Amino acid sequence: TFAYDVLIIGAGPIGLATALAAQQANLKYVVIEKGTLVNSLYNYPVHMTFFSTSERLEIGGIPFVSINRRPSRLEAMEYYRRVATAHKLHVNLFEKVEKVTTNGNGYTVITEKATYTATHVVIATGFFDIENRLDIPGEDLPKVTHYYKEPHFYTMQHVVVVGANNSSVDAALETYRKGAHVTMVIRDGEIGSRVKYWVRPDMENRIKEGSVKVYFHSSLTAIRPDSVDIQTPDGLVTIPNDYVLAMTGYRPDLPFLADTGIEIAPASNQCPTYNPDTMETNLPNLYLAGVVCGGLDTHVWFIENSREHAEKIVAKIVRERAG
Ligand code: FAD
Repeated sequence: TFAYDVLIIGAGPIGLATALAAQQANLKYVVIEKGTLVNSLYNYPVHMTFFSTSERLEIGGIPFVSINRRPSRLEAMEYYRRVATAHKLHVNLFEKVEKVTTNGNGYTVITEKATYTATHVVIATGFFDIENRLDIPGEDLPKVTHYYKEPHFYTMQHVVVVGANNSSVDAALETYRKGAHVTMVIRDGEIGSRVKYWVRPDMENRIKEGSVKVYFHSSLTAIRPDSVDIQTPDGLVTIPNDYVLAMTGYRPDLPFLADTGIEIAPASNQCPTYNPDTMETNLPNLYLAGVVCGGLDTHVWFIENSREHAEKIVAKIVRERAG
């Protein structure tokens, strides 16, 4: 006998959406989360605004009311917290899942605190816990971060921002506006194509007027306490530097998925295997939900298009139980 019908790993928006669907279907479920509720959102930049409108961030059909065109991180945290408390979702926080193993017709899930059994397991662990590293000397200096939080700290400092996508552009503009001397280091020849269309002109104009310096077709090659080296088309450049914001993206915990027995595609995006109709992986009754599904393609899935994973999974479980 198994203690749970469904054990959900991760209390992000999609883990919570799965819990709501399971609750509605009268399944015995629990969510296990290694950090706080919606831990990724909690760790996003403090003043971040979602690119999605609020109704597209809703889960379980529960209205997310915001008078802003695009809700802030604070509003979204408030929404998901109220959804979880009002619906009395069963969520165990600050408990990391360390291992999932098959156990007869179900699974044993071992966390840092306890051992659980469940017939179905949903992995909704997102992609925000592991940063894409630069792999250059000095990357582990305390002045380097892959998780930019807020701008005031950087006032009057020489800041290098690595990367050309939304996180980099937001960090560059925010720190520039709080009086940092900002230099961007960008691998390609332009700002990323996925940068929010209403932010792009601001960034391009700051670059054009020289308020934010930029090295295109360039890469950071070394970080020292007071300076950095940048490989540019015109040769190696060394500039004074106080802080490095390495906004080079994040990746799902693929070793955890592989260790669980999920097949990972050998293609460059390292997509985990799942059936898009049911979200079931190559292991029976073990599912993926949310942005973890994209492998290294972390821009493919977001809340808006992955919240339906919850209903697909629960519908499959309910169908199966009905015989
Ligand atoms: P997550 O929210 O990442 O949740 C995964 C959870 O699993 C986390 O709480 C994590 O702590 C937990 N976890 C991980 N490993 C374990 C473990 N071993 N044991 C227990 N728990 C574990 N999407 C949008 O739709 N609109 C936006 O505007 C938007 N803006 C974004 C801005 C930024 C800066 C970033 C980084 C992402 C943005 N996204 C946006 C994408 C967003 O990350 C996802 O859409 C959303 O967080 C995905 O939800 P999720 O539940 O799949 O994953």
